[in-house]
Amino acid sequence: MSYLFDLSPVPAIPVAGEAASYPIGRIFCVGRNYAAHAAEMGIEVDREKPFYFTKSPASAILSGATAPYPSGTDNYHYEMELAVAIGAPAFKVPVSEALAKVYGYGCALDMTRRDLQLSERAHQRPWDLGKDVENSAVFAPLTKAADFGEVAAQRIHLSLNGEIRQDATLTELIWSVPEIISHLSGFYHLKPGDLILTGTPAGVGAVVPGDVIIGGIDGLEPIRLTIGPAE
Ligand code: MN
Repeated sequence: MSYLFDLSPVPAIPVAGEAASYPIGRIFCVGRNYAAHAAEMGIEVDREKPFYFTKSPASAILSGATAPYPSGTDNYHYEMELAVAIGAPAFKVPVSEALAKVYGYGCALDMTRRDLQLSERAHQRPWDLGKDVENSAVFAPLTKAADFGEVAAQRIHLSLNGEIRQDATLTELIWSVPEIISHLSGFYHLKPGDLILTGTPAGVGAVVPGDVIIGGIDGLEPIRLTIGPAE
């Protein structure tokens, strides 16, 4: 097939111990998956079902980058998250079979134009301008599921300019990784390349140009993002 013009190549995430990278297909994000974060956002958690938004693969960048402070916001926030990388086709999978569909895990940031997300929310509009922000899906190198082991009580944390801001454990996830995969696979034919950001703990906050964000989850490669000058 010939194309009228070249798009940039498919973005991909390095994998620890692998020469090849994990190409990014889709990026699904779970909203309000830690009770303490939902509370700080002034919302009660819906324990009946999870909900989602998406980020475009074109919004992805890798850990270590310097990303410009984006246009259209005065309240750009960090959100530290566990990313799940799908490794096998998954459609309508039961919870008991969901973990077999995981390729690996990684640290991710769900950078957010909080002012726009909140006004979109207040007006019952989609969250795209708040969430699907260029350079806002930040990924650290992935670790294969077998090397990571079970998602359990690993610590998830984020510091801003060396000061700890988010500090929780993965036991605080309201919807577990297999529950999310099972539920989401009722609506999408998940496949390798699909990533799920599982939500952020409490402690989100704003950044300014020059800030350095460093995040980590026990057993995974750390993540780092520097905020560059405003666009
Ligand atoms: Mn998030």
